[in-house]
Amino acid sequence: MIQQQIKAAIRDIHDFPKPGIIFKDITPILKDPVLCEGISDAFLEKLKGAQIDGIAGIESRGFLFGLTLATQLGVPFIPVRKAGKLPFKVNQKVYELEYGTATIEIHTDAFTPGDRILIHDDLLATGGTVTATSQLIQEMGGTVAGFSFVVGLSFLNGIEKITPISDNIIILAD
Ligand code: IMP
Repeated sequence: MIQQQIKAAIRDIHDFPKPGIIFKDITPILKDPVLCEGISDAFLEKLKGAQIDGIAGIESRGFLFGLTLATQLGVPFIPVRKAGKLPFKVNQKVYELEYGTATIEIHTDAFTPGDRILIHDDLLATGGTVTATSQLIQEMGGTVAGFSFVVGLSFLNGIEKITPISDNIIILAD
């Protein structure tokens, strides 16, 4: 049910941000508060009983449901940002893209070593971003408790990349 509602709301934008790419635009979901509540409820239902000490949300669309979930679960929200955006001391991870590299950062005091962190983003594509995030969290002494996504692009096989890190993977629509 929620899967169909998400799929119906998402729109394909051709040639964005580059020619040849079909971008899944989730912003129509945000116009529908009932659907947003349904998405939060679906995540919470699937997370029932999970031991989670914090939710790491990936810039920028991972902040949307990531903060809502963290608030509802009563745990801290950990912003994962691109280089140069976080104002306090940071730990960083450089990772490979198809062309070049990218850098993500987390505040050094964002969580306590030993914490079990759920990594959240709007969309799973190749899995490169959440894999780098997992590595950074582990380097900072955290444990990856699982992953949650509103959408997964199954043809890109990101799930195979992240399953060895944690097989607790929630994808509401693929
Ligand atoms: P990955 O690292 O290849 O898994 O890419 C996932 C990251 O890129 C996430 O932070 C997504 O928000 C973003 N992303 C990639 N493709 C899309 C898309 O079609 N729609 C929305 N976000 C996307």
